[in-house]
Amino acid sequence: MNELWHVYLSAWPTVWAMDTGRYLVAATLMATILALFWRAGLARRKLQPRDPAQGQRRRELLASLRTAFIFSLLGAVVAVGDHQGWITIYKDFRQAGPLYLVLSLALLLVVHDTYFYWAHRAMHHRRLFALFHRTHHLSRTPTPWAAYSFAIPEAIVHGAFVPLFLLVVPMHGIGLLAFGIVQILRNVMGHAGAEVHSAAFGPGRWLGWNNTTTHHDLHHEAGRYNYGLYFRWWDKLMGTEHPDYRRKFEATVSPASAATAPGRAIARAITCVVAGGILLGVDPVHAQEGPVGRWVTPGASAIVEIAPCGGAPDLCGTIRWLWDNVDDKGRPRGDDRNSDPSLRSRPLVGLSILSGLARTAGGGWEGRIYNPEDGQTYRATVRRPTADTLTIEGCVLFICQKQVWRSAGALAAALR
Ligand SMILES: [Zn+2]
Ligand SMILES: [Zn+2]
Repeated sequence: MNELWHVYLSAWPTVWAMDTGRYLVAATLMATILALFWRAGLARRKLQPRDPAQGQRRRELLASLRTAFIFSLLGAVVAVGDHQGWITIYKDFRQAGPLYLVLSLALLLVVHDTYFYWAHRAMHHRRLFALFHRTHHLSRTPTPWAAYSFAIPEAIVHGAFVPLFLLVVPMHGIGLLAFGIVQILRNVMGHAGAEVHSAAFGPGRWLGWNNTTTHHDLHHEAGRYNYGLYFRWWDKLMGTEHPDYRRKFEATVSPASAATAPGRAIARAITCVVAGGILLGVDPVHAQEGPVGRWVTPGASAIVEIAPCGGAPDLCGTIRWLWDNVDDKGRPRGDDRNSDPSLRSRPLVGLSILSGLARTAGGGWEGRIYNPEDGQTYRATVRRPTADTLTIEGCVLFICQKQVWRSAGALAAALR
């Protein structure tokens, strides 16, 4: 008996540090990404109009630290089980090989998703909800800090899963470590409050079988539907997926929302169509010359001319016209969001915003785009799918925005 206590107590500090550290690192990482890229596009992907309540993050953090503590109390039991031979955590990698490692990890995730779905649905039963699950739902607009924000009974339910699974399936330590990382990353992504998955995770797309931030956020917002953790399978099978999920996800990540949102790539916002200014000095587009020509940005807010940049084979893009060309005081609109204060007085008209566009093997053009809207520069891919349209895709990390520009010549023709 004493020996078992010794094994338990010597394993516990490491297990506690890993459970707590994993949560703190993942939640901090997600919160930092949200802060860094909020203005650059994530604000546009915010899922609920309301903001997290006052003091909510602190409450979520404290409850999560308590959960990590409970996880470690249960996790240290695994060390005892391993010592006693009740479970197998094999150490010699050659014992089972890489294929078993991958398959056992996949199985662990699928079984965990199943366990989570049914435990979660049970905890929504009116007899169990208050005791088990109300704490988690105090966060109506979740933040990454809510990842482990559970009442003690709910923490025990979740913490019991890995020891139970190991009673049946032997795992390698690397597999368990990978599981811990995947689990917490998917968890903080689900609670990000703004959609952090790319369009490829949309229903019907190749990663569409995975849950997204929209999926779990709808669970917090609606209080029912979307009980799954990693995958959509159980919700689809049991008819518990939110009927609005597909529409909401697509509306949040679609290029159309990019075009109407404040984060749009170029120039000032303006509503209506077709500026009279298009009639001014519009060159016909030379279709064979890639993106060379004059292009109208969404909402006719700007006209950008793309041409070879002085001597180099690369192409550059310059703002030639702005709908919103003067500020409140009647001065030419300046580059007032630039991170370099000495550049803020330069006028936007005449400013080069696309630079170093070079042809890629895929038939597009790649370079840099400066967005005066947020004063940031992004990597951009430019394509010309038809003679009259140009697509501009700018990416920051895994967040991509796509805009369609129209040839000025086509709009001028429509005005004749
Ligand atoms: Zn719930
Ligand atoms: Zn949640």
